[in-house]
Amino acid sequence: MTIFTKIINKEIPADIVYESDSVLAFRDINPQAPIHILIIPKIAIPSAREIKGPEHAELLGEMIDAANKIAKEEGIFEDGFRLVFNAGTNGGQDVYHLHMHLLGGRKMKWPPG
Ligand code: 5GP
Repeated sequence: MTIFTKIINKEIPADIVYESDSVLAFRDINPQAPIHILIIPKIAIPSAREIKGPEHAELLGEMIDAANKIAKEEGIFEDGFRLVFNAGTNGGQDVYHLHMHLLGGRKMKWPPG
């Protein structure tokens, strides 16, 4: 179990910006951009490496739909934003509950480092 399960279960607080039956989104505690929101499935998939197309396609679609909706609400949709999955050690993943970073509110750098 990770800290994100506790957030899903409302055992620890988070600044939640979106919730459905299968997806939760909340502000990152250590923001790397003016807008930095984490979009997670409520089921505990450890990382993007465990995503299987046929099984998780609908869930991934809902996560992207949530990101677009939140980006509109946060006023960063038109200027653009970045969606990131960090996977494993070299990917820079710290929390092993699948999460998509929504970053915006400034011009992102490339390559990301
Ligand atoms: P990762 O490095 O695994 O891709 O991203 C994990 C993210 O979760 C980090 O950006 C980190 O700041 C965020 N995070 C870790 N613990 C908490 C927490 O308890 N609450 C919130 N809101 N964000 C967290």
